[in-house]
Amino acid sequence: MQAYTYIEKGKFALLEKAKPTLIEPTDAIVKVTLGSICTSDLHIKHGSVPRAVPGITVGHEMVGIVEQVGSEVTAVKPGDRVTVNVETFCGECFFCKHGYVNNCTSLHGGWALGCRIDGGQTEYVRVPLAQQGLNHIPDGVSDEQALFVGDVLATGFWAARITEITEDDTVLIIGAGPTGICTLLCCMLKNPKHIIVCEQSAERRAFVKAHYPDVLLTTPKECTDFVMQHSDHGGADRVLEVAGGKDTFQLAWQCARPNAIVTIVALYDEPQLLPLPQMYGKNLTFKTGGVDGCDCEEILQLIKEGKIDTTPLITHRFPLERIAEAYEIFEQKRDGVIKVAITQ
Ligand SMILES: [Zn+2]
Ligand SMILES: [Zn+2]
Repeated sequence: MQAYTYIEKGKFALLEKAKPTLIEPTDAIVKVTLGSICTSDLHIKHGSVPRAVPGITVGHEMVGIVEQVGSEVTAVKPGDRVTVNVETFCGECFFCKHGYVNNCTSLHGGWALGCRIDGGQTEYVRVPLAQQGLNHIPDGVSDEQALFVGDVLATGFWAARITEITEDDTVLIIGAGPTGICTLLCCMLKNPKHIIVCEQSAERRAFVKAHYPDVLLTTPKECTDFVMQHSDHGGADRVLEVAGGKDTFQLAWQCARPNAIVTIVALYDEPQLLPLPQMYGKNLTFKTGGVDGCDCEEILQLIKEGKIDTTPLITHRFPLERIAEAYEIFEQKRDGVIKVAITQ
């Protein structure tokens, strides 16, 4: 089978590999029917994920059909349509039992697929701890509708959940990339008074305006003033920082009102300054990133009920044999790309 492989820093290539087989009784083999490319794949390509293992098949956003299961996997069976979770987790350790699956202490715990072990930009993938990592796609939900459930949409859902949004709140979301838009969709479920999206790219602001006309839009430069004008208590009640830009962490806490919650979803390339003297007395609560992707069943149900629809994010489709072209467009943010679906 063809597998898009991390060769070395700066180089991915489509290689011929053997179809994976079950190794442990907790494994499943999934035939990938649709995949995608994530910004984290680019981080691997750029050499900024030290634990990524050269030679592995990349890709951790996918849906598929269960081909085979190990003897201890009872939640799914061959023929089932499933989403695959970006995180591998045991469901039994202290962290898993508290819903903090990102910090699972199992050997395979955390982000393994497409990083430490072979992932999903290929035809078949071995999923460890499949009892926890696979979720049934409900009847009537298409592969495209379910594509982002295990990764970017799980991230947006988790971010909106931990941010404790109420209907009186003005919510500021910084960044309208794929994760920012997924975060927006999940914040919309909470019906806050206002949602303001701050985004640098005019193309992405136009995308938000076209699809979500009730959302208020601003730019990083105008953000602080705009938020003050559109909030009741001198700043946003809730801030979600999804951009990870050079100055966006500072913007996030500066736009927050006293006693706000500021959730940092973004992954930064560099350390960020926490200027405690300047923020003293503002009494902010910070929550920091690392998705706990354990709400996939609930998310799939919301998709089935028509309450979340991420299909507009799929702006491009490419077959696996042309995945290099898909990477090029995604990496260079060409042609209005938000997300690319990789078909078989
Ligand atoms: Zn990802
Ligand atoms: Zn665990």
